[in-house]
Order: sequence, then structure tokens, then C-alpha cells
Amino acid sequence: MRVLVTGAAGFLGSHLCDALLANGDHVVGVDNLVTGSLANLAHLSNESRFAFVEQDITESFDVGAIDYIFNFASPASPVDYMKHGIETLRVGSVGTLNCLELARRYEAKFLISSTSECYGDPQEHPQKESYWGNVNPIGPRSVYDESKRFAEAAVMAYHRYHRVDTRIVRIFNTYGPRLQLNDGRVISNLLKQALLGEPMTIYGNGMQSRSFCYVSDEIDGILRLAASEEHLPVNIGNPTEFTILDCVRLVQKVTGSNSEIKFAPMPEDDPRQRKPDITKARTLLGWEPKINLEAGLRLSLPYFKAALAGIHD
Ligand code: UDP
Repeated sequence: MRVLVTGAAGFLGSHLCDALLANGDHVVGVDNLVTGSLANLAHLSNESRFAFVEQDITESFDVGAIDYIFNFASPASPVDYMKHGIETLRVGSVGTLNCLELARRYEAKFLISSTSECYGDPQEHPQKESYWGNVNPIGPRSVYDESKRFAEAAVMAYHRYHRVDTRIVRIFNTYGPRLQLNDGRVISNLLKQALLGEPMTIYGNGMQSRSFCYVSDEIDGILRLAASEEHLPVNIGNPTEFTILDCVRLVQKVTGSNSEIKFAPMPEDDPRQRKPDITKARTLLGWEPKINLEAGLRLSLPYFKAALAGIHD
């Protein structure tokens, strides 16, 4: 297959390119490098089945005939999408429509990365795909949440009106090598702080929860969904729930750090709890995550150590 990956220089996009290449596909990776980094693709510089195009997908573009589109372009950490709010709205709306037009033109299959943020600050717990969510449409997170909700609506419309063969993955918190050190996410912040001996920041009282999926599990789930015939959204995430305080303790354990804890104010509209119901992924795709948080943090450590050493060279 000839596959287009947008957001190819990002955390998930670059891991997806690796997995598709390992499957024997030809991959065209597109990114405008707003939050992605060419360092994530450096190891592919001699790969003849991979081509990179620096391109903003909100501008009209065409990479020629393709069989599958994975639309993964978007700032995705709260710090990044709040810094690039308008770009985030545009990439989810105009960018997604451009990609859907390409899929229509070339009769390509299509998969979009959506998010657990579609559920907002959820009042149903754990979150099933059938839950419509509790999103503040005008709050600081709305640039991301509504961009992704619009993107889901656009994908379903192209499926219904133009019979494009589409899929929607709702991704829950994912971590691993190639996370940006400065994306402000909890795992990146805590690992970096622990390794540098800096205070570990907890926003609020640390009793809010998240459920963290290691990147290889996430990519496995996404590829299984890509190969399926399911057009409605599917949650792909690790259902084991941790409070942020638990997370700090685990990071201290795997790094051996004795960094102190520093409490900071809770960001506005920060969801109090998040945990995927993955019954649908289990039954439909035979997928469930294999790597628990402690193991995943240990697997992430070498990357974080090397990246920090690079910064301080
Ligand atoms: N958080 C924290 N300390 C940090 C960064 C984040 O306590 O240094 C909290 C944040 O308030 C949220 C959770 O960790 O409750 C996850 O935040 P993240 O930015 O990783 O992603 P989110 O799940 O909110 O999109």
C-alpha cells in the first residue's frame, strides 16, 4: 500500500510511520513542524519506502494516488494546543476536510486520530464510545476539544454522504519515547523533573485521574482498527486508572529520584477523571494493552535520559 500519514513528525505519527514501514508499506509523511520534530524521523533518512513532505494540511495539497490516509496532524498536549489555539482549530477542521477530499479523490481508506477529550470532564465513568461527553465549548481547552469533535463530524459526514471508508480512533493519554520534553504533559514533566532532580509538579491536589497507554500498545490498537470495517469511534487506551499522585510515586520508584513534590494550581476545566471502557476494542479488534505503567515508564527512561543529555550538552 501507499500510505499518507499527516502529523508524521509527531510522537504518534512517527511511531505509526515506523509500524507501517515494518509492515512493508510505502509511506508519505506530511508535517508542518509546528509541534512535530524532524528528529523523530531522522532514523528513516535512508529508507527508500519513506518520503517526507513539509506541508501545512490546512493549505490544499496532493501527494498523488494513495491507498490509506492516517490523519494524525494536530497539536495534542494542553500546553501546545493552548499556545497554538487557532492552528489547532484549523487543522482539525480545514485540515481534516482537505484530507477527506483526498481520500474521496483517490478512493483511499481513512483513519483519524480523535481523543478522549471528546468526553470533556466526563460525568460517565469509565467512558464508553456511546457517551456524548461534557465539553465546555468556550473554555481554554475548547480549541482542541471542538476541533476534534468537528473532525469526527466531518469524517462521519464524508462516510455518510460520499461513502468514504472511514475510521475514528479515540486516543487516551499515551506516552513513551519521542514525547516532546517540553510538551507540559504529566509524564514528560514528571520524568524530566525526576531525572534532573527538580521539584515534581502536581496540579491541584493530585487526586484527579488518568489512564496511561504505552505507545506500542496504542499503535497496535490503531493498526487493528485500520484493518477493521468499523466506522464508528473506538476507544484505544489503557483502562488502568491512576491518580496523579500515584503517578508521581511510580516515577519516583522507576527513576530512584527523591525530588520533592511541588503543588501548583489546577488548570481551568482540567478533567477530574478519565478511563476508557475498551469493551468495544476487546470484542471487535481482539485488542488490549499489554504494558503496564511501571513497565512503560522503564521503557521510556532511556529516551528521556538521552534527550535530556542532548539538551544539556
Ligand atoms: N498535571 C500535573 N502536573 C504536571 C502536568 C500535568 O499534575 O506537571 C496533571 C494535569 O493537571 C492533568 C493530568 O496531569 O490533570 C494530565 O495532564 P496532561 O497535560 O498530561 O494531559 P491531559 O490528560 O490533561 O490532556
